[in-house]
Formats: sequence, C-alpha cells, structure tokens
Amino acid sequence: MTARSNGDARTPGLRIVVCAKVVPKPEEVRVDEATRTLVRANVRSEINPCDMNALEAALELRDRHGGEVVLLSMGPPMAEPYLQVLEGVGADHAYLLSDRAFGGADTLPTCLTLAAGIRKIGGVDLVLCGEESSDGATGQVPAGLAEWLGAAQATYATEFDFDPQARRLEVRRELPGGFERLRVPLPAVISLKSGANEPRFLDVARLRAARARGGVTVWTAQDLGVDPAQLGLKGSATVVAGVGRAEGAERRRERISGPADQVAQALFERVWAASKK
Ligand SMILES: Cc1cc2nc3c(=O)[nH]c(=O)nc-3n(C[C@H](O)[C@H](O)[C@H](O)COP(=O)(O)OP(=O)(O)OC[C@H]3O[C@@H](n4cnc5c(N)ncnc54)[C@H](O)[C@@H]3O)c2cc1C
Repeated sequence: MTARSNGDARTPGLRIVVCAKVVPKPEEVRVDEATRTLVRANVRSEINPCDMNALEAALELRDRHGGEVVLLSMGPPMAEPYLQVLEGVGADHAYLLSDRAFGGADTLPTCLTLAAGIRKIGGVDLVLCGEESSDGATGQVPAGLAEWLGAAQATYATEFDFDPQARRLEVRRELPGGFERLRVPLPAVISLKSGANEPRFLDVARLRAARARGGVTVWTAQDLGVDPAQLGLKGSATVVAGVGRAEGAERRRERISGPADQVAQALFERVWAASKK
C-alpha cells in the first residue's frame, strides 16, 4: 500500500477502503457432512454485521475530515446488490472481486486477493475491517491484509480518530481488564469491534443515485494480475480434514404464555430443572 504524501492534492482527507463480506445468515447455515462444505442453497445472505461498524467508522472519518470511502469485497456475483445497498448507506463506490478462481480460498489467498484489489484501487491510506466474519470467524483477514500490504495494523479497535497534522490515527483497543491507546501511522489496517458504533441507515436517494451511476465495479483474477496458483483452493494452505457436531447443551425454543405470575413460575421451574442436569 503506498501512502500518499502530505502534498498530494487529490483529496483533502483519507482514501479509506472498507472490506465487507457477504455472509449467509448464521441461523440458516447447515454443513453437508458428506462433502464437509456449507450448504448455501436457499440460504439468505446479509452483510457481515460488524462490517457495518467498519463502514460507519469510515463514514464518520469522512464526515469530519473529508476524503473518500470505497467498499471492497471478494465473493460471488450475488454479492453485488448487497454492496449497492452499502453505497446507499454512504460509500462512494464499491469493488467486487469475483472469479471462479477465488473459490475455496482459506484466509491466505483471501488476504492476498483483497490486498491485490487494494493495490489496484491505489492511493489507499486506511483499510477498515470488521473484527471477524460470522461464517469463517477466524479474525485473521485484517492482520493478513496488513502483512501483504506492508501496513501498520491495530485489531479489535473500539474507537479511533485521525490527526490530520501528524497524519496518524489514535486508536483505542479494549483488552481483558483494561485498554490500550495506540498511535498508528498511515497506511494502516484497523479492525473494528462489533458494536463499536451505531451504523447509520440506508438513504434511498443515495441508493438511487448509486444505481444511476452504474453500480459496482467487478474485477476478475486477470484484472488483478495475480499468479493463479496463489488463488482460491489452489493457493490455500489449509484443508478441511473433518467436520463434526460439538457436544453441547441442546437448544430448544418454547413459548410460555399465560398470566405473568404463572409464566414466571413456569420459567423458574424450567431453569431450576436444567440447572440440576
Ligand atoms: C480449506 C478452506 C476452504 C474454504 N473454502 C471456502 C469456500 O469454498 N467458500 C467460502 O465461502 N469460504 C471458504 N472458506 C472460508 C474462508 O477461509 C473464509 O471465508 C475467508 O478466508 C475469510 O476468512 P474469515 O471469514 O474467517 O474472515 P475474518 O478474518 O473473520 O474476517 C475479518 C474481516 O475481514 C474482512 N473480510 C473477510 N473476508 C472478506 C471477503 N471475502 N471480502 C471482503 N472482506 C472480507 C471483513 O471486514 C471481516 O469482518 C474456506 C476455509 C478453509 C480453511
């Protein structure tokens, strides 16, 4: 990632890339135990929830300091309308990295591919990610991106601000039993804790304007100019050797209705019985 010099007059603020992943809704995900892959048919998707916190943080920085916020996602073509909705929330443009060659990627080629996209966007000062995805949930992508980009990194941030004079970020990270404040030089990759802020709503006029502009830019493996052997399943360093069901408490849903005192009594009896098992 090439940081811009203070004298660069292209945009007065920061050029920020927000990495957003389209994920299956967690409550609908099933694993095919024969093939050990996720069953995606008839599963609804959504933007990974904490990526909305990353977008909100980027928009707040742009509100305060000017600049530009672009979205970047690696995923299948069905991700496009989700990215357009994020343009409607406030991003200036969206890029989708989509190619069969990216399929089956573990975090290694995922980071390499996203980093290639960030380089191709060019002049990026700051990359913001969510803390982890709700499907893969490794939390490895932000750190991996920083590594491929040669950028500074701070993960699990709860707050941060930009010092335009020093052109650096002041980042607060929550730790067990405390917190730390970091001064992070640009270019940098920051991951945001879920719930770090309150994401704003979609603005329908913005969405219409985004659609009128022509929508999302899609780049393939060829556009990125990356060695195909480093991409997708071929470029992955891990293999899913097995999937199993974890032994754990069975989750049930039950509706208890009636007068409040009877509901409270019934609830107490169930909790008491469960605590004795
Ligand atoms: C052997 C193997 C095979 C796999 N095969 C598949 C497969 O076939 N299909 C599949 O969907 N997954 C597959 N996965 C899962 C895949 O590794 C992850 O989806 C991907 O690498 C990202 O990791 P994560 O979801 O843990 O992201 P995390 O590191 O938990 O995500 C942190 C943040 O990084 C950003 N981010 C992560 N992924 C993306 C993305 N794609 N685009 C934009 N931003 C992103 C987001 O801001 C996110 O909040 C496979 C994993 C392994 C180990």
